[in-house]
Amino acid sequence: MHMREPAEHIRNIGIVAHIDAGKTTVSERILYDTGTSYKIGEVDAGTAVMDWMLQEQERGITITSAVTACQWQNTTINLIDTPGHVDFTIEVERALRVLDGAVVVFCGVAGVQPQSEKVWRQADRYHLPRIIFINKLDRVGADFGKAVQSIHDKLQAPAIPIQLPLGRESEFCGVIDLIAMQSVSWQINAAGSVVEVAAPIPDELRADAERHQERLLEAVAECDDTLLARYLEAGTLAEADLLDGLRRAVIAGKLFPVLCGAALKNKGIPRLLDAIVAFFPTPIEAPPIIGIHPATKAAQVVHCASHDPLSALVFKIMAHSDSPLIYYTRVYSGVLESGSWVYNPGGADGTRKGTPERVLRMLRLHADKVTQIERAFPGDIVGLIGLKETMTGDTLCQQHHPLLLAPIPVPEPVIFVAIEPRSQADQKNLDEALQQMMKEDPTFHVNKAGETGQTIISGMGELHLDVLVERLLREKHVQARIGNPQVALKETITAAVTVEGKFDRQTGGREHYGHVWLRLEPNARGEGLTFLNAVSDAKIPRVYVKAVEKALRTTIGSGVLAGYPVIDVKVTLVDGSFQETNSSELAFGIAATKAFNDGCRQAAPVLLEPIMDVEVTTPKQYTGGVVEDLNARKGKIFSMATQEGADLIRAYLPLSKMFGYATDLRSLSQGRATFTMELAHYGERAQSPTDGI
Ligand code: GDP
Repeated sequence: MHMREPAEHIRNIGIVAHIDAGKTTVSERILYDTGTSYKIGEVDAGTAVMDWMLQEQERGITITSAVTACQWQNTTINLIDTPGHVDFTIEVERALRVLDGAVVVFCGVAGVQPQSEKVWRQADRYHLPRIIFINKLDRVGADFGKAVQSIHDKLQAPAIPIQLPLGRESEFCGVIDLIAMQSVSWQINAAGSVVEVAAPIPDELRADAERHQERLLEAVAECDDTLLARYLEAGTLAEADLLDGLRRAVIAGKLFPVLCGAALKNKGIPRLLDAIVAFFPTPIEAPPIIGIHPATKAAQVVHCASHDPLSALVFKIMAHSDSPLIYYTRVYSGVLESGSWVYNPGGADGTRKGTPERVLRMLRLHADKVTQIERAFPGDIVGLIGLKETMTGDTLCQQHHPLLLAPIPVPEPVIFVAIEPRSQADQKNLDEALQQMMKEDPTFHVNKAGETGQTIISGMGELHLDVLVERLLREKHVQARIGNPQVALKETITAAVTVEGKFDRQTGGREHYGHVWLRLEPNARGEGLTFLNAVSDAKIPRVYVKAVEKALRTTIGSGVLAGYPVIDVKVTLVDGSFQETNSSELAFGIAATKAFNDGCRQAAPVLLEPIMDVEVTTPKQYTGGVVEDLNARKGKIFSMATQEGADLIRAYLPLSKMFGYATDLRSLSQGRATFTMELAHYGERAQSPTDGI
């Protein structure tokens, strides 16, 4: 039976890093040191316990944000794994949403890398308190001071060491603790485990340690007037004041304490865990979140209090092999009970209706075992089983206290592929499997192509679809043929026109009359459809104007060129007429659709394609080849920089030119260059409108 777990004893944290900085290794060692996992899984051997899914192990990257509970100093640390690959930004976003703090891992050799900057900015957006862990200090070329300096220079972040490394590279054997002002070395005891041995700071390091401690004291004092007064008066701060002041500065995002270690050598992790417990906020101290009433839209502050009505956010839905779906949920207020009925108010955009849901079972997930629990309190992160209609990003609450928590922003898919079952018998399996996968991953979409009825799946990039298709074939045992991936295009217009649309027909024994004049103009990129009404109620009554707008919002789903969604068009209803007895909403809808489609044909329509912001990091000797190749792909290079002996090239490229880029870049650079990309904007397609559709 699960005992009540007050929020003061919970820390919800994530580990974020540039790919290869050691995030997986750090997570592994945390599980090991907290006794959650007894066998250390080597990432290199592909057995990491966090990497649950088969293909993650094969690819050696972490895709799913598995939540793992572990215990340290009478505190439950819920470790939420966050992936680093850009095809999976949504995973990072939704993990960041439910974290109260993040450990940011940097490589002690490379310092701030281009990707770490991206991750840092993402954490900035969520105002996440952060602890910095400089990893790999055992490696040749590791330099703690330089790594910290690169954080100051490149991130302009107030990073403040609370430790200094003892020994360099292969001699790295402990830390100087700048809070207790002592030296701590790690030694292997008779039982073969690592133990800490404390000693006074060696004389030759004393001056350096004192200088760094002074910086720490000053930085902490400057965050708080009372402490500043005390510091100025006494010239120092008591250890308790320092710890308390630092904690408040971390929670407020004013300071980022820096620790050191070498996760692979099992060095520095227990002290990192101490810092997580000491400096990160409890869910009670985390900033309150805001919800809205689904009907009145009135904003409501949600406090981390168990006597308040229930509010919880389902931030991830996942199937683990053959087990039922697990709905990973963070409780924000109230108490969630196993076996109880809760209420899902539906989607935030109002497209789905509210529905009661039953929580059949509630789980706490450790890396190596799952325990059933009866109750979850505010601040808890648990797995639910038995929900039926709930999607990722939905809120759970009580029917008589309906509330919507801010949903997780979902980016639009940019790439799609046709998928066809090998046999008729597979069709049902395919449909079921796709429905389930769509529930788990809101960036994955399934559509049936209009005329052919072909199943089309779409997502965030080539790798994203590869992973999904692989799961389909292997985990869901669906036999299917996959087409070539294609880019999701859009349509828009480039000229302004005014067009008439008229519908006047007798059907079902009555006359239907609708008549509009629409002015169509190009809208600024990203503005979508703007609808304006410039006619008086006397000319066209309000209900018919509404019908016109509704029809337009449907019509833009499929453009006149090739059936792609139409974006960025401004439509003004400028004139028209109605007949008292014969007009209907239906007739106005048809008239508007006709006018819009005719207008688009006359207004120089064009296809738009996704233009990606591509960032390549390459050793210098391959820069020439990489640039040449980017130019050949019609890339527009807009920035080049040199960093740590590598070149960083940024360019805009049409997504269609990026197919197979991972493989090509590998062969161009003997596997040493890496790249990331994300959607920058939609741009006019260079090729003739019909090729490749
Ligand atoms: P992730 O991509 O950030 O999850 O990084 P991984 O944990 O997979 O680590 C990337 C590589 O760095 C692996 O080959 C690890 O063995 C290695 N690595 C991780 N931590 C350390 C460390 O402390 N010292 C050294 N020398 N190598 C490390």
